[in-house]
Amino acid sequence: MKILIRRFLLLLITQPTFAAAPSSSPKNLAIVIDDFGNNMPGTEEILNLPIKLTVAVMPFLPSTKTDAELAFNNGHDVLVHLPMEPKKGKKNWLGPQAITTDLSDDEIRRRVEAAIQDVPHAVGMNHHMGSKATEDERVMRIVLDICKKNGLFYLDSKTTGKSVVSKLATEMNVPFLENDLFFDHVYTTQHIKKQAQLLDRKLLENERIIAIGHVGVSGPIMVDVLKEYIPVFQDKAEIVGLSDLIPEYKILDKGLE
Ligand SMILES: [Zn+2]
Repeated sequence: MKILIRRFLLLLITQPTFAAAPSSSPKNLAIVIDDFGNNMPGTEEILNLPIKLTVAVMPFLPSTKTDAELAFNNGHDVLVHLPMEPKKGKKNWLGPQAITTDLSDDEIRRRVEAAIQDVPHAVGMNHHMGSKATEDERVMRIVLDICKKNGLFYLDSKTTGKSVVSKLATEMNVPFLENDLFFDHVYTTQHIKKQAQLLDRKLLENERIIAIGHVGVSGPIMVDVLKEYIPVFQDKAEIVGLSDLIPEYKILDKGLE
C-alpha cells in the first residue's frame, strides 16, 4: 500500500505538466511508443515531444535505465515492455530473459519480477511480440498476478486475436487496457501517415483511443508524423498517458486487499 501511494504521489509531485488540451473535450488519446531500452533510432526525439506519451521500455538492455529515467523526467508514463514468445519470429528478436511457454511457473514469476525491478518508474506493463504467450492462460495468469501485486496495470497490444488478457484480467481484477491501432506495421512514411489519418477519423466516433508506435526502424518517421499530427489530434482530444485512463481508486484499491 505504501509503495503504491508513494508511486502515485511521485507521479503527482515530480512530473512536469504539459500544456492542457481544451478542457471541454471529453475525448482522450493515449499514444504508446514501444521498444525503448536498446538505444533505438528516434529515442531522444520521441522522448522530447511536447506531449505526454506512454513509453514502453524493454528490461535488461543497454539503455533500459537511461531511457526509463529520461521518459519519467520528461513527464511520460513508463511501462515494462516484457518480451514474450511469438508464434513466428526469431528468438534473438525477443531480447534477454523473455517469457516463453516452455518455462516453469517459478521461472516465469522470477523473470517478470526481475523485469519490473529493472525498469525504473514503471506504472504498467505491455508485451513485446507475444502472439503465442498471450494466448496461454497459465503464463498470463502468472504475469497478471505479478502485475497486480506490484500495482501495475496491463496494456494488451493485441498481437493475436485470441489473447486471454481481457478475460483473465477481468476475472483477477487487474486494471487493463487494449490497443486500438498500430501506427507502424509497415515502416514507410506513407503507411504511418495513413494510420495517423485513420486515428484522426476514429477520434470523431470514439471517446477514447489507444494507439501504438515504435522506436527503431520506424522511429524517425514516427517523430515526423507525430510532430505533424499532434496539433490535429489535439483539436479533437486531450493527449494523455495510459495511467490517466486508469481511475486511481482502482490502483489504491488493489493495495488494500
Ligand atoms: Zn515491442
